[in-house]
Amino acid sequence: MKGLAKGLGVTLRNLTKQKITYAYPDVPLEMPDRFRGVQHFDPDKCIVCNQCVRVCPTECITLTGKPNPDPTKKVKVIDTYDINFEICILCDLCTEVCPTEAIVMTNNFELATYSRDDLFKNMQWLNDNNKNVRSENSTNLSPAAKGGAN
Ligand code: SF4
Ligand code: SF4
Repeated sequence: MKGLAKGLGVTLRNLTKQKITYAYPDVPLEMPDRFRGVQHFDPDKCIVCNQCVRVCPTECITLTGKPNPDPTKKVKVIDTYDINFEICILCDLCTEVCPTEAIVMTNNFELATYSRDDLFKNMQWLNDNNKNVRSENSTNLSPAAKGGAN
């Protein structure tokens, strides 16, 4: 009896306290701005320097470049850019070294899937992932990506 009263006391005390649980996934979770989430990639800014590939500790970035369609420019343009999120550890190093902010972090983290193949994201997917870009990078987004940035 004493134990029951004690338990009820705890329940009653907590009834009036502010809730600390979230109604996720019905209500989206807002992550802190420095959260390391899934990257956004802007092909127009990439200069195919390969620094992100070289620094990546898990070797999960693959890219290819092609000659610039403008013959007066020597800089290559990006042809394919893929990240394998099966092994990406979201360490942020690729975005830190990128000289043009072609690859930047977002606050998005939802990658759950039933197939490992779905974790292989290509350039189009990474480009479309343009919401919740980290605020220090979102000011330099291309006009196309700016439309989706929060
Ligand atoms: S976040 Fe880290 S592991 Fe993932 S692609 Fe960038 S450098 Fe590689
Ligand atoms: S994303 Fe950045 S670091 Fe990677 S190749 Fe393009 S410009 Fe270089």
